[in-house]
Amino acid sequence: MEKKETIYDVFVIGGGVNGCGIARDATGRGLNVCLAEMNDLGSGTSSTSTKLIHGGLRYLRYFDFRLVRESLKERELLLKNMPHICWSMRFVLPAPKALLHKIVIRLGLFIYDNLGGRTILPGTKTIRVKDSNVGKILRNKFSSAFVFSDCWVEDARLVILNAVDAKKRGAHVLTHTKVTNIKREEKYWRVTTKGKEGITQEFFSYSIVNAAGPWVNTLNNNASKEDTPIHLVKGSHIVVKKMFGHGKAYFLLGKDKRIIFVIPFQEDFTLIGTTEIPHNDMSQEPNCSKEEKKYLIEFINSYFHSKLEFENIVWSYSGVRPLYKHLTDNQDSVSSITRDYMLNMESINNLPILTIYGGKLTTYRKLAENALFRMRSYFPKMQGSWTSQEPLPGGNFKLEKKAFLIKELCEKYSFLDEKWSTRLIKNYGTLCDDLLGDSKTKEDLGIDFGHSLTETEVKWLIENEFANCGEDILWRRTKLGLRFTKKQEKQLNDWVQNYLSV
Ligand SMILES: Cc1cc2nc3c(=O)[nH]c(=O)nc-3n(C[C@H](O)[C@H](O)[C@H](O)COP(=O)(O)OP(=O)(O)OC[C@H]3O[C@@H](n4cnc5c(N)ncnc54)[C@H](O)[C@@H]3O)c2cc1C
Repeated sequence: MEKKETIYDVFVIGGGVNGCGIARDATGRGLNVCLAEMNDLGSGTSSTSTKLIHGGLRYLRYFDFRLVRESLKERELLLKNMPHICWSMRFVLPAPKALLHKIVIRLGLFIYDNLGGRTILPGTKTIRVKDSNVGKILRNKFSSAFVFSDCWVEDARLVILNAVDAKKRGAHVLTHTKVTNIKREEKYWRVTTKGKEGITQEFFSYSIVNAAGPWVNTLNNNASKEDTPIHLVKGSHIVVKKMFGHGKAYFLLGKDKRIIFVIPFQEDFTLIGTTEIPHNDMSQEPNCSKEEKKYLIEFINSYFHSKLEFENIVWSYSGVRPLYKHLTDNQDSVSSITRDYMLNMESINNLPILTIYGGKLTTYRKLAENALFRMRSYFPKMQGSWTSQEPLPGGNFKLEKKAFLIKELCEKYSFLDEKWSTRLIKNYGTLCDDLLGDSKTKEDLGIDFGHSLTETEVKWLIENEFANCGEDILWRRTKLGLRFTKKQEKQLNDWVQNYLSV
């Protein structure tokens, strides 16, 4: 049976970090790729994380050395390849009083510093905290703390930049397009999708990658012989007004042995999380419950002098981790379930489907490489791995040049102040020139929607970054949603809808 329509090499289901990472990698190797995302890119788990590119210090507790080593190796590589949206961060871990505990943690940090070939990030230091700005705000009179390194990443932008690059290299990226069915035919897969206006379409592909994250088992595919079980675990964060003036984050151990991060967020805020609650129904949107807010507030109030209350929460969000279920998992502790990923390949009549389970933002690039390694026998002409050396769009500058780029942008566009320039460089890196073009004054950028978001930027996000509504822009392309009033949000959304309708 000959088909006239395009038959893709790979059809990727899901536009989270793993789906977009695989689509980018595969396209760069010369494969013809289509990706379908049922909502906005990154709108699933990938924009609701703690936003750390980290080895996962706490996984050492479970002897998950493979995952920690791979993550630590990726940490500096990703930092180099996306210096605009990723930066190093120092974490304060208050040292316990008991000497044995102190020694065990220091040993763990020594392993953490040395397991992954660290060259850029500074190593662990022990500091006296009693009267320092780091220690003074803590309730318990800790006398010392360990300060170690990890990295921060703008998680949703990581996803979007992978999709932007995949498209630039030739991938067909569809947003607001749900895959409703996949079926093996004689020579190819038939993929049925439903778009925003309910329009049904069919696509054809020689292979499928199911990267639907926590929805991985919801596709009723007669493809997969049996659905591999996963644990769905909800994690919630709260955001409050800036709790402290210094730029370090905290890594705090609770009485229940869980870790809570307290992280400087978007200049004026503090991010606190996360919880871990089983969440078994993906048709229910996860949200941060009253109990979770209470848990996080009480945790903070037990550690810090500041008295947080419900009213101090300015934003909260929740995501669901799809964790791969091992038979040996301790059913009593979701914290102990591995964050490692699993790739499951099934092939009948030379028509493969690769299903992705689990994973972390940190390992998305390596996961994509491994996914394509698993597919190499089906595409013998596929080129070799390439993403370790190739920056994401806007990331083609040296890490140490970031401050210079911010200053240079202010000089070139004299109407920008440092805050505005910093926001733009941290979002778009070297693509700022493309965005601002030859504008000479602020007025050249059109409508000012508030907090330095202008018509020019909004149009650029619609045309270059798949933005479709105010929410896409305020919460995933930027985090200006933290500052916008309801009225400003509405004005922006109305403008976007009007722009898209003409
Ligand atoms: C609370 C929390 C904190 C975390 N913190 C960190 C961290 O600090 N560092 C770190 O490295 N990792 C962290 N993670 C893990 C990381 O966020 C996830 O592993 C990662 O985002 C998973 O990406 P994904 O692409 O597999 O899934 P998702 O991002 O969920 O993407 C799957 C996509 O598939 C789409 N989809 C589903 N079904 C269909 C369909 N039928 N058709 C079309 N599209 C479909 C969904 O809309 C979704 O966008 C955290 C996770 C959570 C929950």
